Amino acid sequence: MPKRLPPGRSEAVSQEQQGWSFPANSKKAHYFLANEIRSLCMKWMYAGEREDSKDDSLDNCKDCIKRLAAMRKKQAKGVKP
Ligand SMILES: [Zn+2]
Repeated sequence: MPKRLPPGRSEAVSQEQQGWSFPANSKKAHYFLANEIRSLCMKWMYAGEREDSKDDSLDNCKDCIKRLAAMRKKQAKGVKP
């Protein structure tokens, strides 16, 4: 049976996808890459579900925002593999 999400909540994603999460004891959301348990700012570990939305949330870690922006800029430029 497919998992039902509560109304009003954006779709939660699994560990295999990248997105924002709140590690235990963290007041801020940190960004985690797919299959990566360390946050972009390298300060937090988390292996649970992430949400790839809320990029503009005030709860997001400033360090992760910076690194995510830099990463996306690089991707937009089309870095060759
Ligand atoms: Zn962070």
